[in-house]
Amino acid sequence: MADAPSTDFDLIVIGGGSGGLAGAFRAAGYGARVALLEPAALGGTCVNVGCVPKKAMWLAAEVAGKLRHAAALGFDVQPGGLDWTTFVGHRERYIEGIHAGYRRRLAEAGIVLMPTRGRLVGGGRVATDDGVVLSATHVLLATGGHAVRPDIPGAALGGTSDDFFGWRSAPPRVAVVGAGYIAVELAGVLQALGSHVSMRVRGTRLLESFDAEISAQLAEDVRQNGVDCRFSTATTAVERTDGGLRLRDAHGEWSSPVDEVLFATGRRPNVDALGLGDAQIALDAAGFVPIDAYNHTAVAGVHAVGDLTPSPALTPVAIAAARRLMDRLFGGRELPPLALDDVPTVVFSHPPIGRVGLTEVQARAAYGDDVQVLRSGFRPMLHALAGSPQRSLFKIVCTGADRRVVGLHLLGEAADEMLQGFAVAMRRGLTLDDLHDTIAIHPTSAEEVVLMR
Ligand code: FAD
Ligand code: NDP
Repeated sequence: MADAPSTDFDLIVIGGGSGGLAGAFRAAGYGARVALLEPAALGGTCVNVGCVPKKAMWLAAEVAGKLRHAAALGFDVQPGGLDWTTFVGHRERYIEGIHAGYRRRLAEAGIVLMPTRGRLVGGGRVATDDGVVLSATHVLLATGGHAVRPDIPGAALGGTSDDFFGWRSAPPRVAVVGAGYIAVELAGVLQALGSHVSMRVRGTRLLESFDAEISAQLAEDVRQNGVDCRFSTATTAVERTDGGLRLRDAHGEWSSPVDEVLFATGRRPNVDALGLGDAQIALDAAGFVPIDAYNHTAVAGVHAVGDLTPSPALTPVAIAAARRLMDRLFGGRELPPLALDDVPTVVFSHPPIGRVGLTEVQARAAYGDDVQVLRSGFRPMLHALAGSPQRSLFKIVCTGADRRVVGLHLLGEAADEMLQGFAVAMRRGLTLDDLHDTIAIHPTSAEEVVLMR
């Protein structure tokens, strides 16, 4: 760690998660004197209770699926239960390695790390928990968000994704409430690792903001994986009985008992006790810290990145925004705003979904009849060989005389690893002809993208 805290910095970063760390490192790289305030584990949501442990659990679930295929194909393996304690040990060691890497890099960069919350007290000043007031030319707010439970009776009986990461075995019966990223991902992992999962979706589809056909095929795949997926099922109460926890729906019907309830019902920004009122920063209608296209708040010298802003709640968005901001503030670089209209994203479902750009509905709203949609539905070879019914669905959405690709939607094995390269091509104006001009790689799932007619 660097020298004892000074009260005079070029930059104070409040929050040591994805955005805060990225901003601190980039600013320090330009020679800025940086203080980083983080009361909890370095790395924030992503490293400790988000992307990283989630991906580890997803990988375990993928291995479980492969073991089942292996047994079906004649391998001498017994697909059985996972010893979570052993696996979680590996997962936590991996995360400890990330923490150690951050500590080393912070020290090397001369960034002053303070294990405290920060609170704005106006005029570029930030108070720590023990009352020390620090000052800086610039302050970066990067406090992220937290999971919320619905406001219903018995909600405290259920957990959130944070609780999931504390589990050391697969609960036999789990009800997952919600239909967003976290609900879909954790339901899939739990089912694959031995739980019997029921999903309670208040709407009529999974992943409301994704392409409707992709959502529908995912629901089919999820059901084939054994998840009891119930739509139009609002959850209005939870209660404990002798047999376990029960959930009530809007018609007053109680569910069969489960051992755990997981609420994956959204996240809210961490704005309480941040001194936003003192700093004259008003929240927007949805409770986020409003920013302009350059991540500046309404107050000069105070900036914000990541999940406490209305930007897409994804780690690479928080990181890219923080780096670009520091490039402008301390690197003297005149950079355009971050492009947020074609952010690639993956849902780590089983199989995964990769999506970049517009859904078919969004494209038709933007371009009317001037939209062409190509789709390819197929059974990946491993599933066909092993007699598994899982199907993939790929969709290309294009527009204009040059048939520019404005949306790419991939549901299927390896979609998570396939998407990045196509996202680069789309930023460079990819057209359908470009895809058709490219020779396929055979036999792969990815070749479907260049073969679709
Ligand atoms: P965070 O990473 O949450 O960091 C905020 C930090 O601020 C925390 O460490 C917190 O302790 C600290 N803090 C809070 N208040 C204060 C204060 N007053 N003073 C000082 N410090 C404070 N995104 C992806 O791109 N891919 C994924 O696969 C993915 N999976 C996810 C899975 C789950 C279960 C969850 C919950 C999220 C996932 N995300 C994923 C989203 C991703 O984790 C977030 O978008 C990202 O972490 C946001 O970064 P951030 O810097 O805004 O906030
Ligand atoms: P989302 O906003 O994606 O989904 C919230 C879900 O909860 C929606 O299905 C919503 O339904 C439902 N919901 C909200 N309130 C209730 C309620 N009272 N009763 C029943 N259902 C309810 O939030 P998540 O928490 O899943 O994820 C937060 C964000 O984190 C994501 O948007 C994403 O940006 C990020 N993330 C990214 C991941 C990745 O990159 N792979 C993985 C995990 C998270 P409705 O549609 O009806 O409102």
